[in-house]
Amino acid sequence: MRLVVQKYGGTSVGTPKRIQNVARRLLKTQSEGCQVVAVISAMAGATDNLLKLAHQISSHPTERELDMLLSTGEHAAAALTAMAVNALGGRAASLTGAQAGILTDRNYTKARIANISPKQIHELLSDDYIVIVAGFQGQTPEGETTTLGRGGSDLTAIALAGALNADACQIFTDVDGIFTCDPRIVKGAKKLGEVAYDELLEMAGGGAKVMQSRAVEFAKKFSIEFEVRSSFNKSRGTIAREERASMENVVIRGISVDRHQAKLTIAAVPDKPGIAGRIFFNVAAAHIVVDMIVQNASAGGVTDISFTIHEDELENARRILMPVVGEIGAKRLNTSSGLAKLSVVGIGMRSHSGVAARMFECLGRAGINIQLVSTSEIKIAVVIDEKDAERAARLIHAEFGLARLVSATAAAQSLK
Ligand code: ADP
Ligand code: ASP
Ligand code: MG
Repeated sequence: MRLVVQKYGGTSVGTPKRIQNVARRLLKTQSEGCQVVAVISAMAGATDNLLKLAHQISSHPTERELDMLLSTGEHAAAALTAMAVNALGGRAASLTGAQAGILTDRNYTKARIANISPKQIHELLSDDYIVIVAGFQGQTPEGETTTLGRGGSDLTAIALAGALNADACQIFTDVDGIFTCDPRIVKGAKKLGEVAYDELLEMAGGGAKVMQSRAVEFAKKFSIEFEVRSSFNKSRGTIAREERASMENVVIRGISVDRHQAKLTIAAVPDKPGIAGRIFFNVAAAHIVVDMIVQNASAGGVTDISFTIHEDELENARRILMPVVGEIGAKRLNTSSGLAKLSVVGIGMRSHSGVAARMFECLGRAGINIQLVSTSEIKIAVVIDEKDAERAARLIHAEFGLARLVSATAAAQSLK
């Protein structure tokens, strides 16, 4: 018998009606001869509301209590979904992450899955139950509740599909699949038929929240193919899989926008070994996640170092770095916020040149200033003013003809 893991995101279970719709889909899948495991997210807005409540009670809630609190959003939605299946005459049982056998490390609020022993899932499946698992959570070896980072129900689904050796893993969401750009930003964005794990990783890292980065990392590590599709219709979605030679024929697969970025520049840093280490050691010790890092060529024995972080961390980073600037003999610390990162991604970039030039020209023509650039083999990312981000995404989408996906030959011709 085929075993299918289906994940339903917050919007897909956002109202009682939508939960009933999910229940009908689960029953239909079962009636087609499949064993069904469903991973359910908290109802739309529930996690944000719980976080808001926590911060009304305390400015620094402990991470242990945050996880106790946040995991309840998924408990509620999973139980409600099981009730909906049962009300339609089916047989469903809901499980917490712990009951589903998901064991994690002790890193509260962003725990990593260490192991899955899905004994109870197997027992329920063999008794013909539809098994509904609360997403986004697990437990430590000591039995403490943990959560897996925002968007973590994606990870629960991928990891369970791997542990159960599922025949299919389907991520149901509120759009029809993975698009060339967030369809809420670019109206003409096109649904992709397939995407390579590495491309999706760069898109997710670039701010496309359609899949959690860590879930894609997990899928890549264990070669777990999955489909992202809509919970509102029956259309086929996008398949994420290992890259195949034919995928290089598309130069640019997608564009992502990451808002709320801040840039810090330490000016006139002495160009000596160990200095960069000192700066970033202090930033890391405060658990601030650094994204792009750019160091200028040195002139007169000094250089400038710039890097980006999330806007929310700017005050914290400034406080930590002010004394460091003096200690290392640098001149000053400049900071700016209200920035966005725009990334252009595609494995075809490995074998096609000229993408950066065309992207920069396009932004230049529109009067959009580029503040930082970083690249990987399959990505070019720029930092620009946040107010320009959506316009830039639309212009670049049009420039590369993404509404009709650029074939390698067409791209090569237009790059000449
Ligand atoms: P869920 O609640 O189902 O987990 P999310 O809100 O986390 O859904 O992710 C789906 C959203 O991701 C979409 O509504 C869409 O606005 C956004 N998104 C961003 N980039 C993309 C993209 N390239 N393709 C599709 N959706 C995208
Ligand atoms: N409910 C969690 C969040 O909002 C996890 C998820 O939806 O995947 O981040
Ligand atoms: Mg999500």
